[in-house]
Amino acid sequence: MPDLFKVAKFGGTSMADAAAMKRCASIVQSDPDKKVIVVSATAGTTNLLSELATDISVEQRMAIAEQIREKHIAICSDLEHPDDVLDEVTRLLDELAAIASRKQLMTAMLKDEIYSFGERLSSTIFTQVLKEVSGENIHWFDAREAIITDNNFGSAEPDISEIGLRSKANLEPKLKDARVVTQGFIGSGKNGATTTLGRGGSDYSAALFAEALDADVLEIWTDVTAIYTTDPRIVPDARPITEISFDEAAELSVFGAKVLHPATMVPAIRKNIRVYVGSSIHPEKPGTWIVKDTRRKPVIRAISLRRKQTLLTVHSLDMLHRYGFLAKLFQVLSDHKISVDLVTTSEVSVALTLDSDIHAQGNQILSDEILKELRTFCEVQIEENLSLIALVGNNLDATAGLSGPVFGSLENVNVRVICHGASSHNLCFLVEEKEAEEVVRVLHDRFITKKIKA
Ligand code: ADP
Ligand code: ASP
Ligand code: MG
Repeated sequence: MPDLFKVAKFGGTSMADAAAMKRCASIVQSDPDKKVIVVSATAGTTNLLSELATDISVEQRMAIAEQIREKHIAICSDLEHPDDVLDEVTRLLDELAAIASRKQLMTAMLKDEIYSFGERLSSTIFTQVLKEVSGENIHWFDAREAIITDNNFGSAEPDISEIGLRSKANLEPKLKDARVVTQGFIGSGKNGATTTLGRGGSDYSAALFAEALDADVLEIWTDVTAIYTTDPRIVPDARPITEISFDEAAELSVFGAKVLHPATMVPAIRKNIRVYVGSSIHPEKPGTWIVKDTRRKPVIRAISLRRKQTLLTVHSLDMLHRYGFLAKLFQVLSDHKISVDLVTTSEVSVALTLDSDIHAQGNQILSDEILKELRTFCEVQIEENLSLIALVGNNLDATAGLSGPVFGSLENVNVRVICHGASSHNLCFLVEEKEAEEVVRVLHDRFITKKIKA
């Protein structure tokens, strides 16, 4: 079999400590095809950095920077040759401490600069671990030399053609004589400022590198053995999925399955790159292959849950027999960079769901300014604390008699907006947050493990 070109990504739990890093290094070492290794920050570090990047006191910031220092120095001290990497790690930690010690207001740009230390630290240490475990020469590569984005700090949009050019020019030559370790999550804006792709964005970075370098396979190594029929933290008897299609995996991730960042599948689909999801803790256990076309095409393959949904209902008699209302509404939302997920309309009202989670940097999803603008032409109602549940599979739009059993099994649940028919790969609806996990359990028992009979 000819050599394959693989991009392998290891997530935060896979980078938790020196032992976890050594396990990942063995996974890499055992496969010469794994040419580019993309790593996340060590477990919990991005959360700490996100706390540091708020408007707390300098003392509090310094305490967090110190916690991050201790954690990374401890990992280094468990290496065979800590001295080979300590200077660089200390330099990064000092740079972070210097930022933390400055009395300054946080800006979105500064937050991304702060976030970047997580991946810069973990990739520096992991390069050393991989050198020690494999005995090979390994290159460290600054992802900001290839992942070019716009300046939308906090969830920057990648510039695909520029990423293609820079990866070929700056990264590919390094692969001639060694593997490359780089960072997920971070990129570089137009003027060179550090940007990030949104929380969980390392999967997306790895997919972007895979696309840019024409990889055959993208591997996502994480803390679960596979993609499961639902989040195993919610349903312990969820089942691992052996094979799933690009479209289904894309829907699952967009609708909340955290195992993949929602945009991960986009580059993979563009370049038809197979994706493997496996466990860095139990690499021997079978994982999930995400491929263009699957042999089995069940109607319901998996169930996902996305929390923190906001339901915006707008009401206006102007909608009745008029045109232009929806265009005006969406223009306001687009001007404020609000992304809309589900939409349902009646003659005089429109209900839209918005994801409050992507505004995790502390901003209120609908600012007073947007509300004021909307209220000039419609009545506005907002409901929070909702969750979006999606059944993901095949031919869901064309399967007769599906909604009866689905909603019949949720008799006592207040189901809000339902979207059925827009995609053949999902049926989704909103429920109250406090009922959401139970709804997932009931649907999983009924349609996946089939414990509950019709
Ligand atoms: P990493 O740090 O490796 O990126 P994440 O925490 O981002 O890992 O993603 C892995 C987690 O995704 C799992 O621990 C699991 O709780 C969650 N998850 C949600 N839905 C699913 C699913 N359908 N299959 C597997 N894991 C899922
Ligand atoms: N370290 C980043 C985060 O925690 C990116 C990632 O892990 O994918 O969000
Ligand atoms: Mg992740």
